[in-house]
Amino acid sequence: MKKPLIMTPGPTYVSEDVRDAMSKEITNPDIDLSFYEFYRETCEKIGQLLNTENKVLILDGEGILGLEAACASLIEVGDRVLCIDNGIFGRGFGDFAKMYGAEVVYFESDYRRGLDVAALEEFLKQDSDFKLATLVHCETPSGILNPVDRICPLLDEHGIISVVDSVSSIGGEELLVDKWKIDIALGGSQKCLSAPPGLTFLSVSDRAWNAVKGRKTPVAGFYCNLGIWENWYENKWFPYTQPISDIYALSKAVQNIIEEQTTVERHAEIAERVRTALESSGLEIYAKDSRSNAVTSVVIPEGLSYSEIYDGMLSEGVMIAGAFDYLAGVVLRIGHMGENCYEEKLYITLKALDKVLRALGVKIKGKIHSNFID
Ligand SMILES: *Cc1c(COP(=O)(O)O)cnc(C)c1O
Repeated sequence: MKKPLIMTPGPTYVSEDVRDAMSKEITNPDIDLSFYEFYRETCEKIGQLLNTENKVLILDGEGILGLEAACASLIEVGDRVLCIDNGIFGRGFGDFAKMYGAEVVYFESDYRRGLDVAALEEFLKQDSDFKLATLVHCETPSGILNPVDRICPLLDEHGIISVVDSVSSIGGEELLVDKWKIDIALGGSQKCLSAPPGLTFLSVSDRAWNAVKGRKTPVAGFYCNLGIWENWYENKWFPYTQPISDIYALSKAVQNIIEEQTTVERHAEIAERVRTALESSGLEIYAKDSRSNAVTSVVIPEGLSYSEIYDGMLSEGVMIAGAFDYLAGVVLRIGHMGENCYEEKLYITLKALDKVLRALGVKIKGKIHSNFID
């Protein structure tokens, strides 16, 4: 059988030039000084993508490592952490904080809408004694994009360090780390950047870095301790051997986005057309507002199961995703991120969806792919 078109919300399609970069001959990254320059340039390019002057680090592990490393490095036992929660990743962040001994307070907001900033503002007037707050830019399971442009300046006013999971938004949505006062912004290689899975990266503000360095107790671990990266460039010393081939690929993928210049606009345009196509066909989008341009979660029509839609789509040559936790069996997800975010791929996906849902007895207005108009 032909390989399916992978339209899941990450990992995404990896283009040939990125795969080629990955297969380049390697050097010894600990000893070869030119690799330190390459690594630094890659960090600078990521900084450019994040619109920040902050220190950028690349860690050898998938996106979750970044979330855990931020919690491990910042939190000391008994620290109060505000977990800003309107989705599965948002809520889960609190679990990491607890593992490192935090006293976690949850601020909850509607799971089908962008975070309610006015309510958060009121909440902080009552209680703002937090060392840090965790939040998610794009809630990938529900397809909600949170207004970090308003949340992080608010946290900053209260002196709270912000740790933002922007794993599925970087490259697909605007992210102005310095302007929005984001202390730690976390990304992953396999979402909108369309590099292979395996790397996480983060920008760290001076305030967050000082909090790591000023701890009273040592970080309980090595791999998750951001402090081990201090002066890596000056000392020409990496805390462990770098996954050089993965970094070659990431660097190329980031370079591609910088050269394209209009990646964010491409995501906005395609995502809007996908949403219009789905809704004018009579389907329901899970997010009621603040919809992400990287992924769309569609409510599974009454009486159907996720697996029959998934199987049908796969036999049409397209792989889509479901979701997990409370959204398992509730939504199906179409990833329109990174290298998957092109008209041709979405046309094929929507045409397959039209055929599959129709065969399962769903009444569709017009044709989904014909509603995917310019
Ligand atoms: C993909 C993703 C991560 C990384 O998690 P995995 O489930 O291991 O891929 C973290 N946060 C968000 C919001 C993500 O979309």
